[in-house]
Amino acid sequence: MPTRDNWQIGRKMDYPYEGTPPKKQVAYIFDTNKCIACQTCTVACKTCWTSGKGQEHIFWNNVESKPYGGYPLKWDVTIAKKAGVATWQGARLGNQTIFEGLQPNEPPRGFRPDVQDYASPNMGEDDSAGQVDKGAAYSGMHPNWMFYLARICNHCDNPACLAACPRKAVYKREDDGIVLIDQERCRGYQECVKACPYKKSFYNAISRTSEKCIGCYPRVEQGLVSLCTEGCIGKIRLHGLRTSEGAPREDHPIDYIVRIRKLALPLFPQFGTGPNVFYIPPIHVPDVYLDQMFGPGVEEARKMYRNLKTDKKLLGALLLFGASDRMIDKFAVEGKDGAEFAVGWDDKGQEVCRVPFTEAVSIRNHLDEKRQAYRQNTP
Ligand code: SF4
Ligand code: SF4
Ligand code: SF4
Repeated sequence: MPTRDNWQIGRKMDYPYEGTPPKKQVAYIFDTNKCIACQTCTVACKTCWTSGKGQEHIFWNNVESKPYGGYPLKWDVTIAKKAGVATWQGARLGNQTIFEGLQPNEPPRGFRPDVQDYASPNMGEDDSAGQVDKGAAYSGMHPNWMFYLARICNHCDNPACLAACPRKAVYKREDDGIVLIDQERCRGYQECVKACPYKKSFYNAISRTSEKCIGCYPRVEQGLVSLCTEGCIGKIRLHGLRTSEGAPREDHPIDYIVRIRKLALPLFPQFGTGPNVFYIPPIHVPDVYLDQMFGPGVEEARKMYRNLKTDKKLLGALLLFGASDRMIDKFAVEGKDGAEFAVGWDDKGQEVCRVPFTEAVSIRNHLDEKRQAYRQNTP
């Protein structure tokens, strides 16, 4: 079987598909500390891309409440059990990925969810946060904590969906690494649904094909961020094309945050798919949970996040989240002494955002003298 370098697990690994890596790779960073589970991203995607017949249960974007929520139900616990507990020697994965230890022509280790697992988009939503007796149901089981995990297809470096498809209907685009399913070729065998460890390929029983997030490719081709990124109320998302050939760039916000500073980490890197959605881990959740979820580097990332105030360049990169509807290709911090800005440019060198480190505060008088009217909310 061919082998591939996988920087996320610090070693080479088996992967049953020989393909040229893309020139650039679509990538996303989600800051879990800022998500408020408003589901605007979910609705933005659903209303645009999956509002047709047979797509009722299809959420290319979903947001789940951890530790109990998951869509489909228990997707993470089920695949984690199959893959085994991840063991790391430093940044090197000790155990096998879902592509390794297989017989010739055996598909990646996976499972197909039951139909009823798609019945509840966010089972247990906010249970630990106080909806029911301030999470008292969990007392004695573990300390009470929760966080929101927004999820989309990871447009993986080594997609399991692609490796598993007997029809070769799944492909990864050369220009941007977006992973798509050719609807003409697909015969609905659902091997991609079974193989994707993140359960981000869905079966449509009306069209009898499998469908997945298309990475908003018509927007990406115009230099625009995805709908789930643009619509994000919490500004938790940064979307762009990271460097996939050669060294990561210091002046590229995604390269800088992910590869150079390692503040944002891949979700379950031990599966080996090389996911391209990177998460800034929550700062209040126990390590033992996060270490399995995001691999080594959680503690360091949290330390960096807590010290952002004194880390101007990293803070500047984070200020770009949600600041433009265009993908940012280059950034810099300009100004000094309390008047700093994070500036972003697109791939044509056009400035697309300029975000102040400190927002100007303007307090208006209670009485509008000119109109002789009080400015106040009606109770
Ligand atoms: S997340 Fe799943 S569906 Fe998306 S590219 Fe990776 S393996 Fe394929
Ligand atoms: S990238 Fe586009 S298609 Fe994919 S989840 Fe976001 S909005 Fe939906
Ligand atoms: S729109 Fe943003 S803040 Fe709201 S749920 Fe989605 S990711 Fe979270």
